[in-house]
Amino acid sequence: MPNVDLHCHSTASDGLLAPREVAYRAAGNGVELLALTDHDDIAGLPAARDAAEECGMAFVSGVEISIEWEGTQIHVVGLNFDPGNAALNDGLASIRAGRIDRARRMSAELERHGIPNTFEGAIRYAENPNLISRAHFARYLVETKRCKDVRSVFETYLVPGKPGYVDHRWADLADAVSWIVGAGGVAVVAHPARYKVSMGAMRRFLGEFRDLGGQAIEVVSGSHSLDDVGTYGRLAREFGFLASRGSDFHGPQESYVDLGMLGYLPDGLKPVWSVF
Ligand code: AMP
Ligand code: MN
Ligand code: MN
Ligand code: MN
Repeated sequence: MPNVDLHCHSTASDGLLAPREVAYRAAGNGVELLALTDHDDIAGLPAARDAAEECGMAFVSGVEISIEWEGTQIHVVGLNFDPGNAALNDGLASIRAGRIDRARRMSAELERHGIPNTFEGAIRYAENPNLISRAHFARYLVETKRCKDVRSVFETYLVPGKPGYVDHRWADLADAVSWIVGAGGVAVVAHPARYKVSMGAMRRFLGEFRDLGGQAIEVVSGSHSLDDVGTYGRLAREFGFLASRGSDFHGPQESYVDLGMLGYLPDGLKPVWSVF
């Protein structure tokens, strides 16, 4: 089975390496097929594609779209679409526009809890200011010694119920899937085990996703345990989904799993890359 990594981030969103560096690092780790999947932005794709070509590594376009489903923030990855598609680009621009307002509301909430100026602090970390993310707030709160690492910032400040978390209206599931499919791509549920929803709700979500034209789920992911791989491998078979594999690499300092350094798909699943 080829070493495929179809989920990772660059400085075009909240990753720590430039798109070219991501591609070179992936090739150095033995990746044979890569997709760069920045949050809500595809600006990194041309540079990553050029670098992949220099390395002799196959590359497909990617993006990780933030949606809201029944009050939960869920991520849908798009793969192998036409990056010039107008509806996709307009849709992504609309999500990015909401991010600045949300970041200001996060900053106001943190200020109310005695932590000032986090918008200004976080945006310094966002090389793409239109793509300010909770990860940038986390880096600033580590810098200012509010917490020892990014993980504990999330636990203490940035998840639902904590002072820096604000509700936000992301894209609709139907819109995200239609942008991806309309641009000729494959829609994939990102790291399904990570969402804090019941198995009943997850099954409902997967059913809706499939009815809307979604074709795949991540089975092997940097955010999945071995148990999770088993669970979502079974669900992929049951729902007839193609299976994807991706590290969700953000940077050498912040990710448990490096590019391409993850287990292979369980037997009997159809890899999503078989349809590229
Ligand atoms: P946002 O898209 O602004 O809501 O930020 C979500 C990003 O924050 C994710 O893509 C991860 O990069 C990061 N993130 C979310 N939860 C955690 C966590 N528990 N630990 C570390 N990083 C996280
Ligand atoms: Mn991220
Ligand atoms: Mn994600
Ligand atoms: Mn991701």
